[in-house]
Amino acid sequence: MNDKHVVVVGAGITGLAAALRILSEPNPPRVTIFESRNRVGGVIHASPFAGIASLDESADAFLTRTPSAMDVIKQVGLGDALTSPATGEAYIWRNEMHPIPHGTLLGVPGSLRTAWSTPILSTTGKLRASLEPLIPRRVGRNTDNLGAAMRARCGGQVLERIIDPLVGSIYATDTDSFSVKGMPQIADLLAQPRSLMSSVKESLAKRVASGPIFAAPLAGMHVFTTSIAERIRQLGGVIELSAPVRAIEQPKRGQYFIQTDDGTVLCDAVVLASPAQHSATLVQSLSTDAAARLAAREHASVVMIALTVPRSVWPQHLTGSGYLVPKPNQIAVTAVSFASNKWSHIHTADNSMVLRVSLGRDGMPMHHLDDDTLLKLALADLYWHLGIDFAPTDVRITRWVDSFPQYRPGHFEEVNQLEHIFDVSAPGVVFAGASYRGIGIPSCIADAHRAAARILAKIDA
Ligand SMILES: Cc1cc2nc3c(=O)[nH]c(=O)nc-3n(C[C@H](O)[C@H](O)[C@H](O)COP(=O)(O)OP(=O)(O)OC[C@H]3O[C@@H](n4cnc5c(N)ncnc54)[C@H](O)[C@@H]3O)c2cc1C
Repeated sequence: MNDKHVVVVGAGITGLAAALRILSEPNPPRVTIFESRNRVGGVIHASPFAGIASLDESADAFLTRTPSAMDVIKQVGLGDALTSPATGEAYIWRNEMHPIPHGTLLGVPGSLRTAWSTPILSTTGKLRASLEPLIPRRVGRNTDNLGAAMRARCGGQVLERIIDPLVGSIYATDTDSFSVKGMPQIADLLAQPRSLMSSVKESLAKRVASGPIFAAPLAGMHVFTTSIAERIRQLGGVIELSAPVRAIEQPKRGQYFIQTDDGTVLCDAVVLASPAQHSATLVQSLSTDAAARLAAREHASVVMIALTVPRSVWPQHLTGSGYLVPKPNQIAVTAVSFASNKWSHIHTADNSMVLRVSLGRDGMPMHHLDDDTLLKLALADLYWHLGIDFAPTDVRITRWVDSFPQYRPGHFEEVNQLEHIFDVSAPGVVFAGASYRGIGIPSCIADAHRAAARILAKIDA
């Protein structure tokens, strides 16, 4: 190791991936991670449930298409310990269950046949969707509002009944106030010279032989983060748990004081991998402008309820991985994962079904409700959607407060501006993570790698 010292704030997937990348360089600097919780992983977390050794409380898989997550999985030796969903079929609930139509990309239909074959759209919605190839290409390109862009191109029904449930459930968002650039796949489709329909068709054709879209370590997503932490320690990195950073100061340019409850640590560079609203308080003395901009980033909260359903009441025809509820139909539940269908390794001793039920999103907070109310709301929605009336034997309720960053239109320009402010006022401080350039695990890892490269360049300079 060289004589430089890098501090990473936060041991979520972003902080861990950044530390691992830095320590994997030849002759790396010393790396210390400070984490306020008593465990690594951040929002990636699992616990025992209904006799299952560990059931994810949040993320249960990652996208394999972008290489960043798979590369790290292989680096930490989990390449052979992965599994993929047992079924690719899922539903949208609109008065009854409808399969999500094949031949769509994030809900955007790739052909007239796709649009016309789904009962999710009315005849008016199908006719409007069919006009998409005839609409001038510029329509929908000049806005960074995802809902507005998709409504302009595909019509309100495709947006509200297919695209919004899919994107909304991934990001706990309302697409009418979400950035187009926050969904790079859709931004790419809009930038093509062809119609969205032909671009989707072409993208789907390229995908055919590329293997499963999602993967997860067999023992749960938390094994991903604990394995990275183990590798970091093997490489000489230090991870301090239950060690919140209280403030960062810059006594002179290129030197930083990290204040913790145990004292002050000196370092040459900092990766801020804590969520924006936490980072805001830490950088007050570096730049009040940056602190205010970080504090202004918005986040949504969700509640995740795991519960068991007796097999005897389960509707046997529902063999898919779960369903989404479009915004106009939402009361409390936004999505339900049929975990026992989705993952072949999830079994309870009495063979009950395990469901993971998501409640709340941006604009529909639920986390302030007490456990009894949340469970009642979840069971009422399950009765309405699935027609099943039951009392679960096992229930686990997890509140994910302010855990889903909301990328409002203009978000990415604001992030670039923030980066510029840090480059000028505190050049050794680099931020990364879900609050900034992508919420899914592969995007967080890619952002962590970008941050690591910038840090290495800065301390080498
Ligand atoms: C319910 C839920 C389900 C999800 N499902 C999926 C999924 O299936 N697939 C997928 O790809 N993505 C999913 N995501 C998104 C993804 O898991 C997250 O975006 C990602 O894990 C965020 O990682 P991060 O490291 O950027 O932030 P975090 O995980 O929030 O980590 C930040 C860390 O910083 C620490 N910290 C904060 N302040 C301080 C401080 N002052 N000092 C020290 N430490 C501090 C925190 O304790 C935390 O550990 C899901 C998210 C949620 C909430």
